[in-house]
Amino acid sequence: MSNTIPGVSPQAELHFTRGMLHLRRGEAILPASMAIPEEKTAPGADVFLALLGLATVATSRAIGQTGWIERYREEMRTALTHFDKVADLQPNFADVYFRRAQALRYLGDNVPALDSARRARDLFPDNRDFAALVRSLENAVASKSRPSSPPQQGGFAQNGYPQAGGFAQAPPPSSGGMGMMGGTVPPPVIAGGSPHGVGALPAGDPTKGLTWDDIILPARTKRELRQMQLVLENPSLARSLGVEPPTGLLLYGPPGTGKTTVARILAAQTKAKFLTVSVAEINQMWVGESEKAVQKLFAEARAHPPSVIFLDEVDALIPNRAGGVHQYSDKVVNQFLHEMDGIKPNQGLFVVAATNRPDMLDPALVRGGRLSRQIEIPLPEEEGRVALLNLLTHRANLSPDVKIADLAEATDNFSGADLRALVNDAGLQAMIRLADEGGENALTVADFNIALENMRR
Ligand code: ADP
Repeated sequence: MSNTIPGVSPQAELHFTRGMLHLRRGEAILPASMAIPEEKTAPGADVFLALLGLATVATSRAIGQTGWIERYREEMRTALTHFDKVADLQPNFADVYFRRAQALRYLGDNVPALDSARRARDLFPDNRDFAALVRSLENAVASKSRPSSPPQQGGFAQNGYPQAGGFAQAPPPSSGGMGMMGGTVPPPVIAGGSPHGVGALPAGDPTKGLTWDDIILPARTKRELRQMQLVLENPSLARSLGVEPPTGLLLYGPPGTGKTTVARILAAQTKAKFLTVSVAEINQMWVGESEKAVQKLFAEARAHPPSVIFLDEVDALIPNRAGGVHQYSDKVVNQFLHEMDGIKPNQGLFVVAATNRPDMLDPALVRGGRLSRQIEIPLPEEEGRVALLNLLTHRANLSPDVKIADLAEATDNFSGADLRALVNDAGLQAMIRLADEGGENALTVADFNIALENMRR
């Protein structure tokens, strides 16, 4: 596979890929070690060990369990050595610090993990995944000083992750299989076809070069979005044609269907600065801080027109407002509403909000010209999945026996992000296969089948 990460040397990329390979292998072991203990020993092994008189069944299971843990830790340590090499070769490659932090966290080394995550975040402050990992590690490190709960039976905590031997106390961030469906950290696309495939390149414009060709959506949806773009680009023409330019757009649809990508493309196409925040993140801030963050965001957007403010998980505004858990949450909502009401159509400021739960939205958000346009971003139909798979694999070597149409048929209900994860997983699977057994230097049907199985697990 050719060099696919812009700005990263082939040697660094090779180590990065190897590191990812071991990280993913380690992750693949983790669910196995969390499986029902009875299943941890190979069938027949109990009998075999009993016959040999070496150990009781229980002991054999304990041995089996330790074996998994050791392999898991070994994979994470190997991943780390590769990531360290990348960091030496490419000290400004933010993603490697993020992945280093993940591997360290899996090993339970939360303090160095936090340092590494902070480095990633400092290099690329706009990246939500980096910020989220920093926050979660900060919590983990802080909670270390609190007395820990008694160990669970068999060394497994209630969260299902192994506790003994320096394992992370909190569940590691999910970055494999179905975990990705919830919009968690996607791994970079190896040989990915889209310029936004790699989420964590050295600091830069996350919208650069994006066009409508980078997103696969039903023609009707794309047309609606392009209409929005035209109205934003030329509000006076719109008005002269009787169209009142909106100041806000709500994108709704399942996770991983491309809402963030749409917002980025809109910013890229209208040559606007892209400013983003997750509402859930704002809600986690201290009293007073959240309103200031909202104010700052809008002030920055006003200072740099044209700007697109992207509010992810905007539904997170309502539970606080309704639940009354945080006394200050009303203030945050009001601050948002106040800022949105202050937007004038000619100001060069546009708000795009996204939600997976339109039913949970505060009605005030869509009232009175606030998020007055609403566009659904649906899961791809089979035809869309064909187009997405073609886009995602267009730079990869595909074995002639791989039929995109069959893959599309087998991936009903997969979002674009799931398909991206699937292709990525098949690529990693092919790398393991090539390293262990050789064979075809391309993605094969078998590689895809294993990746599909991994995702369904
Ligand atoms: P959402 O904001 O709806 O959760 P994202 O825009 O963050 O989804 O999508 C995550 C990733 O999945 C994107 O970076 C992109 O690579 C891929 N993706 C998802 N949906 C699509 C799509 N419809 N067309 C192209 N790529 C997509």
